[in-house]
Amino acid sequence: MRQLSLATSWGELRLAGGSRAGEGSLLLLPQLRLALDAGRPARALVPMAHVVVSHGHLDHLLGLPFWASQRKLQGIPGGVAHVPASLVEEVGALLALAARLEGGSPYGVELRGALPGDTVPVKPGFELGFFRTSHWVDTLGCRLDWLRRRLRPECAGLSPEELRQRRAAGVEIGEVVRTPLVAYLADTGPGVFDDEPSLADVEVLVVECTFLDARDRDRAQQFGHIHLDDVAALAPRLRNRHLVLTHLSRRHRLADGARLIRRTLAPDLAPRLHLMNVEWE
Ligand SMILES: [Zn+2]
Ligand SMILES: [Zn+2]
Repeated sequence: MRQLSLATSWGELRLAGGSRAGEGSLLLLPQLRLALDAGRPARALVPMAHVVVSHGHLDHLLGLPFWASQRKLQGIPGGVAHVPASLVEEVGALLALAARLEGGSPYGVELRGALPGDTVPVKPGFELGFFRTSHWVDTLGCRLDWLRRRLRPECAGLSPEELRQRRAAGVEIGEVVRTPLVAYLADTGPGVFDDEPSLADVEVLVVECTFLDARDRDRAQQFGHIHLDDVAALAPRLRNRHLVLTHLSRRHRLADGARLIRRTLAPDLAPRLHLMNVEWE
């Protein structure tokens, strides 16, 4: 698995994981105990308290029964899996079947259906929001916001006694500052950037870039994937501090793909560009 440590306004944010189209996408934020897709069984997946499954394709889902099974085996309580609401029944049946195959009682994890627009707290001060992507099956992307309370600017210079008096008088002296920290786009075509313009300002944007070759432009469009040409066209609009690319097609070897991506994207993007693709075998 690859490891990244990215400077954000919250602090150093660690990402671990790896991705290959069809073979598995897995992105862990260990500081938040959050997994964004669970496409492969991995030891590091087990401690994650929240697992988002973006859609039903196995390269995003196959690690989920392993996660649930290992948590039970190791006696780790809780655990919530968030899946598109349209898949709750099937994913629930999959987990129940896996538990039966193993000869035990049902796994102890909770399964929650998510709809576009839903928000869920994942940890104090962090909220996950869901949106629809433009893949060829029902797929949810998500955005992780960091929420912090601070004094309202007009109260910043006041003494503790003055603040106490205002509070006693029912005046709101604090406010919540929301910082969009990470967006994970799962599998998607470029249309998601028109539907969700705020993606251009998230600090860490994790976006798939499946196809690189000019011959695969139609294939990318047909199946709702992003082509390298799409990223190049989007680049001038992207104000993200970090751009993390995933989901490279097996049509490209890892090193060749990385070279082509770095050569194609504008030089000003290079310092912000990170690749999460791996060779799983
Ligand atoms: Zn995929
Ligand atoms: Zn897919």
